Amino acid sequence: MSSRKPTSSTAQSPSPPPSAFTRVRRLPKRGAYDAAAIHAILDAATHCHVAHVIGGRPVAIPTLHWRHGRRLYWHGSAASRMLAANSVGDEVCVTVTIIEGFVLARSGFNHSINYRSVMCFGKPAETIDPKEKSAALEHFLEHWLPGRWSTLRPPTRKELGATRVFSIALDEASAKIREGGPHDPEADASWPTWAGVIPLVTRAGAPLIADDYTGALPAPRLASIIPLKAAARLVGKRKPRL
Ligand SMILES: Cc1cc2nc3c(=O)[nH]c(=O)nc-3n(C[C@H](O)[C@H](O)[C@H](O)COP(=O)(O)OP(=O)(O)OC[C@H]3O[C@@H](n4cnc5c(N)ncnc54)[C@H](O)[C@@H]3O)c2cc1C
Repeated sequence: MSSRKPTSSTAQSPSPPPSAFTRVRRLPKRGAYDAAAIHAILDAATHCHVAHVIGGRPVAIPTLHWRHGRRLYWHGSAASRMLAANSVGDEVCVTVTIIEGFVLARSGFNHSINYRSVMCFGKPAETIDPKEKSAALEHFLEHWLPGRWSTLRPPTRKELGATRVFSIALDEASAKIREGGPHDPEADASWPTWAGVIPLVTRAGAPLIADDYTGALPAPRLASIIPLKAAARLVGKRKPRL
């Protein structure tokens, strides 16, 4: 049985866009530029896409990310083409998306999706110093698995050498947020089809112990995946579409 959902909402950012380029033009009320909203989405998203141009062609690579203060990090193999491209000084665009629900309206046109997304732009800087690199990777792991880093075999110099870490400052970033129910015109309200939201939730499953694990430690807890209401202040009453 389905339950009643809120009817409509939209974003209202307390901060101005950091640049004309990052100003959300399409449905601007869904835009948010304050660090709290942007950081909450980056922290909750499981992965990002790093978009850049390689040899004149656009490439968007899915990868893992983490945030530390006002910087957004990603890492990879020293052999990665993405990371080689990120070291030439060209700007990248990094995006994250959290899908929170399918929005079913009375017409196909008014179907929508509830989401929180962030786009950030910047020139990547590489973390070279092994100690800083190790600390950055610790932040990465600790974000999802608090307390785990200190239980692990420390990284070797060879492992650190085989790993590259890049980051951009979160100076030029925008969030876009769609929440709430369908926005059908009044004339459609009586159309005899179901309307509402089918929520989509990402969550951790039951831990599966490695075949060669013979210890008796409890499985670590994954940090909460989606703090759904982290940016919940972004609620309004207009009726935007995608
Ligand atoms: C899961 C999901 C599904 C979507 N489905 C559709 C769809 O089917 N059709 C469709 O037209 N749009 C869809 N959107 C919205 C889409 O991401 C764009 O916002 C929209 O298409 C407007 O594009 P634009 O280039 O005109 O943006 P503009 O508003 O011109 O972009 C200007 C600036 O606004 C910011 N911005 C724009 N979009 C986003 C965003 N999503 N997140 C963070 N910052 C942003 C960026 O800084 C960008 O440089 C979807 C978004 C998500 C997250």
